[in-house]
Amino acid sequence: MTTIVLASGNRKKLDELQKILAGKNLTFVPQTALEISEAEETGLSFVENAIIKARHASELTQLPALADDSGIEVDALKGAPGIYSARFAFMHGKGNGDAANNDLLLELLENVPEAQRSARYHCAIVLMRHARDPMPLICTGSWEGIILREPRGSHGFGYDPLFYLPPQHCSAAELSPTVKNSLSHRAIALRQLLQQWPALL
Ligand code: IMP
Repeated sequence: MTTIVLASGNRKKLDELQKILAGKNLTFVPQTALEISEAEETGLSFVENAIIKARHASELTQLPALADDSGIEVDALKGAPGIYSARFAFMHGKGNGDAANNDLLLELLENVPEAQRSARYHCAIVLMRHARDPMPLICTGSWEGIILREPRGSHGFGYDPLFYLPPQHCSAAELSPTVKNSLSHRAIALRQLLQQWPALL
């Protein structure tokens, strides 16, 4: 069984990653369990940041590492918050955390009509076999939605209560975790990764 370090400190995200990857004869250890600090996300794209996080975890543990960098791109905000999704409110001096991020998003979109509230989640997953891996496995996924005018639902995390899915007629936070984990940007990227995995490890 291969042990892989999961290069994230986000508990909800880790939970989704572990559920999607369950039963694959792999052992995942969150980097927090190995007392690995969070890497500084200095990249300008999801892919760059995922590489930075995976390399950091692999370097410090000497284990293969899997990282996820993800966020939401809102068309009416010219793609913001994008790679800054986790730090959106903080960067605007409006507090910290999911609730503050969602409040700021609602505030910025207050006068934006329905037809212009399109958005998508993106996820980049990187698997590095070792810290100097010259060819990390990079997989990506996106998930289309529309930003609601008020939060709906209590599952998921981050922007899920504001992320409306027209095909499902509900927000991402109204989906059960099992359904979210079969449809999401993270699920799409991880499915790709699992297809290519045997050749890699
Ligand atoms: P990261 O940990 O730097 O990749 O930041 C990810 C941030 O993007 C999270 O803190 C959320 O704000 C947002 N995000 C990413 N994936 C999701 C998701 O599945 N649901 C809701 N928000 C998400």
